[in-house]
Amino acid sequence: MPRLPLAAPAHRTGPGRIVVAPPITTGQISHAIGVACLGMLIATLPLPTAMSASDDVLDESHRSLVDLSTRIYPHAKINADLADLCRRFPDRARLEPVGKSVWGREIIALALGQSGKRPKHRVLIIGNMHAREVHSAPLMVKQIELYLHNWDRTFKGRRIGELFSENAIYYIPTTNPDGNEIVYDGIRCMEGNTDTWEGQCIPHTVPNREATMERIKRMIAESAIQVKQFYGRKITPYVFSGKDLVIYKANANGVDLHYNFHEPGINSEYILAQRGKSKFAFSKTSPGTQGFTGDKGIDQPETMAVRDFIERHALREFSITYHGRFPKIFYNFTLKWGPDAPLEKRAFFKKVATELAELSGSPLYAEGSGPVGFCGWFQQKYHALSFNIETGYEVFNGKPAYCPLPAEQLPVIWKAQKLVPLQFLLSVGG
Ligand SMILES: [Zn+2]
Repeated sequence: MPRLPLAAPAHRTGPGRIVVAPPITTGQISHAIGVACLGMLIATLPLPTAMSASDDVLDESHRSLVDLSTRIYPHAKINADLADLCRRFPDRARLEPVGKSVWGREIIALALGQSGKRPKHRVLIIGNMHAREVHSAPLMVKQIELYLHNWDRTFKGRRIGELFSENAIYYIPTTNPDGNEIVYDGIRCMEGNTDTWEGQCIPHTVPNREATMERIKRMIAESAIQVKQFYGRKITPYVFSGKDLVIYKANANGVDLHYNFHEPGINSEYILAQRGKSKFAFSKTSPGTQGFTGDKGIDQPETMAVRDFIERHALREFSITYHGRFPKIFYNFTLKWGPDAPLEKRAFFKKVATELAELSGSPLYAEGSGPVGFCGWFQQKYHALSFNIETGYEVFNGKPAYCPLPAEQLPVIWKAQKLVPLQFLLSVGG
């Protein structure tokens, strides 16, 4: 696979251990621009190691709402857990409605921290835009839970309650609940060995429910054929009703929400130029399980709701979006193509990204990547900082792994990412 002339930064994976991140390959480029979780490159990255002894250690003895022994974390439980946390910690966290999915599921946010006077910094952390990347919601809910239970402890010398008395993080753990439920339906019938997909993910309130179910099945069947044609082989062990579960990234309308974040003049030129060139990445011209950016940008209920939420809460400063399946931090998407960015801004982005990489054992994927998806839109629209943090492992315990990632990866992802939002706040001067 050809190497691209991009510098790979020296990278710390744990106490006293520096490695150089693998050179960036075209396989990773294709992943970055739209094939998340289907990257053609099998990365062999080190698993994260424990924090150094000098770091503060947060207490995790509380009974967690999140079960990391299963990859199924249904939307209804996510919302119930967020509500439960807000009830137990009313002075620290509150629910904020975001909007509804295509099939009417409530998308909600949890705002953690400063709710009164204008916070010093506001950070948006958003997950599960891609249906099959279901591991980001449990990670995010567990982060919230950890910080709430450790309000009086310190992280790198800062009391967590104090950090959140001055700053706020707005979490949207799942942006694509219909897509997640389609994937969970597949997992359930696969693991139950019934091999029948009943479409329980489709609420009975959906008009023309039977026709809707047939449409979803047809999209899955078409994508399964395309995957086979594109890769020349069947790529996944996750099969239900003869179809590949791993291919579902879109929302219920067959639109890839991550790549639906574009509008005229903002993050659109590059995306639209790719349309029709391939059935993958973000270049598809019709609805499907992955790769369709929408007829126009931000035309789905989920993406419109997120955009309006950002405006409503003035979250125009910082954002993180979680994806999967290899540990990497994509940053600086748009600076090459977008508005001229002053050197000090570039340096600031890199400093923050480097500090997150050092903490989490996630190599940086730096300048040169395309202006893609939500992050590219956010950076260009607001001239602000946005990171795409990929988590999980393409190879785990010697075996290739695909999204939805096996549950055995969840504790390792948790260990790597649990403190990242706290570090982010410190790194940006919160
Ligand atoms: Zn993704």
